[in-house]
Amino acid sequence: MTVVYSIEAPYRGRYELHRLTFGSGSPRVAIVAGLHGNELNGMHAVNMLAAALRAQRPRGTVHLFPLVNTFGADEARKRWPFDDRDINKAFPGDPDGTAVQRIASALLDATDADVCVDVHSGAPHVRELPQVRVPLSGRELELGRAMGLPLVWRREGARLQASGLIGAWRDAGRQALHVVGGRGITLDTGHSATIARGLKRLLGHLGLVRHVDPNETVADVTRVEVGVHRAATGGFFVPEVRVGALVKPGHLLGYLQMPIGGDRIGELRARRGGVVVTVRAWPMVYAQELLVRVAGTDST
Ligand SMILES: [Zn+2]
Repeated sequence: MTVVYSIEAPYRGRYELHRLTFGSGSPRVAIVAGLHGNELNGMHAVNMLAAALRAQRPRGTVHLFPLVNTFGADEARKRWPFDDRDINKAFPGDPDGTAVQRIASALLDATDADVCVDVHSGAPHVRELPQVRVPLSGRELELGRAMGLPLVWRREGARLQASGLIGAWRDAGRQALHVVGGRGITLDTGHSATIARGLKRLLGHLGLVRHVDPNETVADVTRVEVGVHRAATGGFFVPEVRVGALVKPGHLLGYLQMPIGGDRIGELRARRGGVVVTVRAWPMVYAQELLVRVAGTDST
């Protein structure tokens, strides 16, 4: 383990940006997790990958950054705790700037690689099926598909996250993949293991390691193939499905109830068949908030 950057902290130990490096030479891959301090699945997945790479030295270089926002993680916070800034909004960063700008700049320098992956959880109020978000075409789509994660989400334009670490990597001419799985605040060991297998398949595709896990992709979609269900009114959402469930049109996805007393306000039924890729986890909802997403599969 190498400390690639550190900052003096006012009332506790120094902030340190840790990197684990396996192998040497080309190709070079960098995998980042914990840019948001409350997103634990990526951290766990990257540590699982580290265990695999200790057993099998890669033919090429793999840089792992299991947890960037250590101080945020200490306090279960997404952002940097001192000034409540989002490190992912500080790219490309500034070596003479504020703490988050310095960290962003150091991370961008330290992830000088051919292929870069940024792993996130969903927001704390939703659970996401492990997925990779990629452009509509090109090398990143090929690499994303090679991960074999349950969902490949091809996104256009602004939805592709032109800003943040992903955008900064693309501006620097690196191939960048955005992985999301599970929900914030929560460690889901199953989703973490799925993400770890996806990372290993990517390394396998690039020729760095042998990989044996079969592809797990259930849906490979663009936005128009994703059915988005929002709350018709405010209420308390009780889901009847989990992420990964296969549903047919009309399948009961959940109920909206009165928060006090539990009277049923309405029910949510799938408009299309496919796989459930997002489920609201925090039940208190306002009108128009996201409840469930269903992505079309080949069989639907
Ligand atoms: Zn995140």
